[in-house]
Amino acid sequence: MEMNGTGSWTPSSWKTRPIVQSVTYNDAHSFETSLQKLNRLPPLVTPREIVKLKDELREVARGNAFLLQGGDCAELFDYCTQDMIEAKVKLLLQMSLVLIYGAKKKVVRVARMAGQYAKPRSSPMEVVNGVSMPSFRGDILNSYEADPALREPDPKRLVDAYFHSAATQNYLRAALASGLADLHAPLDWSLGHVRDPSVRDNYQVIVERITDTLEMMRTIGLDTGGGLETVDLFTSHEGLLLEYEQALTRQFKHPSNHHPPPEIPRPVSPVAQQPQKNHRKTSLPTQLPPPLPPTKGYYDTSAHMVWVGDRTRQLTHAHVEFFRGIANPIGVKVGPSMPPSDLVPLLDILNPDREVGKIVLITRYGCDKIAAHLPGHIRAVQNSRHQGTVVWQCDPMHGNGRNATVTMSPGGSTINGSPATAGSTTIKTRRFSDILSELRQALQIHRSHGSYLGGMHLELTGEAVTECVGGAEELTEQDLSLNYATFCDPRLNEKQALELAFLVAGFYRD
Ligand code: PEP
Ligand code: MN
Repeated sequence: MEMNGTGSWTPSSWKTRPIVQSVTYNDAHSFETSLQKLNRLPPLVTPREIVKLKDELREVARGNAFLLQGGDCAELFDYCTQDMIEAKVKLLLQMSLVLIYGAKKKVVRVARMAGQYAKPRSSPMEVVNGVSMPSFRGDILNSYEADPALREPDPKRLVDAYFHSAATQNYLRAALASGLADLHAPLDWSLGHVRDPSVRDNYQVIVERITDTLEMMRTIGLDTGGGLETVDLFTSHEGLLLEYEQALTRQFKHPSNHHPPPEIPRPVSPVAQQPQKNHRKTSLPTQLPPPLPPTKGYYDTSAHMVWVGDRTRQLTHAHVEFFRGIANPIGVKVGPSMPPSDLVPLLDILNPDREVGKIVLITRYGCDKIAAHLPGHIRAVQNSRHQGTVVWQCDPMHGNGRNATVTMSPGGSTINGSPATAGSTTIKTRRFSDILSELRQALQIHRSHGSYLGGMHLELTGEAVTECVGGAEELTEQDLSLNYATFCDPRLNEKQALELAFLVAGFYRD
């Protein structure tokens, strides 16, 4: 067997490799029927859109833009509602405005959404309310309901996942095209009850500057002709369930039949550009460069970007084999268990042509481990032929999980998918201060190594959940019981996420 990314690739060549986190379906016939259905259904995203994201990520790799990626840890089919989609989109938009304003960078927005339905689990079994059952592995696989029978993998869920992705993607496109991200509409900038007056005052100053700038642009008409009405929002998820990803991978054969529509000159609003230091010199509307046409090849049309998880990135295993053949931008989670000596061979496999911006290294060490691991990883890339090709993104969530023992209030909260019962219990949380600390250290370490931290990858929700402690409202461990709603990892709520964007934007200004 060929190893390490040599040999011919097909959408199913991953099947010849060892695999972790794989799924066994009891009903082989129903599984085959689902895959055949997925094979016939139309792509969820197009090669042209995927290429557009690649173009933008190239700018991130070069240090000219910032990649903001965020969404739920485990997206549920139940989250496919107008309100929940809108809340997340507005939050990502607001965070990106703060980053554009504060960090003076263009922002590329990628949602963990419209397909983030498969979860790797550290243990195949878990105990819920005293009963042992298969772990919840995401809505694409099994039900979160605490019933051992419903926890068995159900092949019909593969097709349900497609349709929930499609409905989410459809509403995303329609809502953005209809002005959901229209900056003419007022946005809610409140941070809730901010306990620290200095945080509140600093925040207020920035909010006023942003709202004044938008107001001025509207008044003098700089926003006419496009730019303020809509934004691009790309989708992403962990490419864990390879049968699903394979079924949506399509060969793009005929670039010549897919000529781009004639380019309509579209002025770019100053807010979408890197703002000028010298405010007297207002930038003139410029024309967007025409998008590059997609090249021949295989595109995973389940999302614009897919990533390999920290548990599935073994060099000789199935996931890396699948990912090496697709033309999409690829994320790779990089944690403390990645030896620097594996990183360059992994890049050799996934990006042999060294396309700039193709690979996003999503580092997730934990605030007390980053200093020991990130420098070695940066140096390994710098000393290789991949120097300058990768996007470095910090995921300050996954290395900073911790347990809290709290008394849950029945009603608002769920644990492992079941309604909380009264009494004390252990739940997963993260500290806002740890998340911020990992981000700050990532930025400093990149700077001191002559490298560029190009983005952040967050688990967040537009809802007022209480899953992470800290932030301006100073949520405590006991507050977690108020509205603990995640079905997997704890997420930043909308106020914590917005505050984090302000603080990170501040790091770039310093
Ligand atoms: C995740 O992003 O939800 C996840 C499981 O991350 P990681 O692979 O980094 O553990
Ligand atoms: Mn997670």
